[in-house]
Amino acid sequence: NVTSVKDAIKYAKEHEARMVDLKFLDFPGTWQHVTIPAHRLDEDLFEEGQGFDGSSIRGWQPINASDMQIRPDPTTARMDPFASVPTVSFICNVFDPITGQAYSRDPRYVAQKAVNHLKETGIADTAYFGPEAEFFVFDDIRYDLTPHSSFFAVDSQEGTWNTGRDERPNLGYKPSYKGGYFPCPPHDSLFDLRTEISLVLESMGIQVDAHHHEVATGGQSEIGIRFNDMLTMADELQWFKYIVKNVARRNGKTVTFMPKPLYGDNGSGMHTHMSLWKDGKPLFAGEKYAGLSDMALHFIGGIIEHGRSLISLTNPTTNSYKRLVPGYEAPVKLAYSSRNRSAAVRIPMYASSPKAKRIEFRTPDPTCNGYIAFAAMLMAGLDGIERQLDPGDALDKDIYNLPAAEAEKIPSAPGSLEEALEALIEDHEYLLRGDVFTEDVIETWVDYKLENEVDPTRLRPTPLEYQLYFDI
Ligand code: GLN
Ligand code: MG
Ligand code: MG
Ligand code: MG
Repeated sequence: NVTSVKDAIKYAKEHEARMVDLKFLDFPGTWQHVTIPAHRLDEDLFEEGQGFDGSSIRGWQPINASDMQIRPDPTTARMDPFASVPTVSFICNVFDPITGQAYSRDPRYVAQKAVNHLKETGIADTAYFGPEAEFFVFDDIRYDLTPHSSFFAVDSQEGTWNTGRDERPNLGYKPSYKGGYFPCPPHDSLFDLRTEISLVLESMGIQVDAHHHEVATGGQSEIGIRFNDMLTMADELQWFKYIVKNVARRNGKTVTFMPKPLYGDNGSGMHTHMSLWKDGKPLFAGEKYAGLSDMALHFIGGIIEHGRSLISLTNPTTNSYKRLVPGYEAPVKLAYSSRNRSAAVRIPMYASSPKAKRIEFRTPDPTCNGYIAFAAMLMAGLDGIERQLDPGDALDKDIYNLPAAEAEKIPSAPGSLEEALEALIEDHEYLLRGDVFTEDVIETWVDYKLENEVDPTRLRPTPLEYQLYFDI
């Protein structure tokens, strides 16, 4: 266990690391890295850090104030399984070299502040998070789009990219439409790939619960990993995506975490399980609905109350809103229920022990920045606890097929990223407590998303528009 700078240096020596890889996040939440030789790994590196050009990183510093610094967190030391020479990897925090202060737009810093804020409230000392990031596996176009390759045949053999409704030759052994959950091989052609990914995850200390094919026919997969405390989990989510993509790459496959790559089939969610603990005791188990405590119900109250704003951070892409539609196991209404997969918050009923009592927020998707999304979910839940917000009655019905009059009464998830960002502008007080988020972070988020994602998507003609309008 690496808990100090000394440990980290020892760990690198023991593993005969020749290079040191420094990983950090850009504002939207994608890993960036810079690599230095192992002889530079000394105590100073942890104090003084490594400089970089902050203006070239998405969502960060202007060119006239672009010198930035990353400092490795020694406790995050891990050997990178994809480097061909032994390389020790650290996740870093970002600092302003002039003031020596932590950088307020560093997502990892936002998450660290949220964890500290939780402790300061005295409500709990630990927030456990368990995200289920689903993804699609496609054939790697770098391998398949050669003039001689038979793109369609490869697809059909592998069972990927088949939506069950296309006109390609059907060679059999493909999951039927929405039939991906859980046929055995040969229909499940990604069995070995998921096992290989799982073994790499476990070799890095990230414990796997189960892996399986998901409902969508186009090679949709899920690998469940064990929950962890919020910050560690956000770090592990970055490793998770990195490992999934890199194992896919070395097998000639490509992975996407985009929420809705295929029209008319299930999308990829990132259901997130949460519970609060204090002094080693679970706080979400109790005598109320579905075995929850009052605290858990208030937490749900906070998620629902701030849902429309929160979703701008948990579902932060234009594509996210193509998933949040009826009929595909993704929630559309901000309601809660036990065992109900059409509600935004579900209370899993598999396990009855108080330790396992948790809530599952089903709206998020894996394009979110884990640090920012987790911090925001925690802050919404804490606001619910502090204000004792009532989540209303549970809705134990199929929410996709409610009579219109009943459906109207339940708040809906936003219909677009733009709508969600508007909700964030109106409702973000709850995020500012304890300086977890700052006005600058909220403003930068909104501006970044509008300028780089909402507007460019809105301004472009799409293939469907040609089909609909070209001949008018
Ligand atoms: N893929 C579904 C979603 O978009 C979830 C399916 C499931 O895990 N039962 O949330
Ligand atoms: Mg699951
Ligand atoms: Mg799933
Ligand atoms: Mg789930």
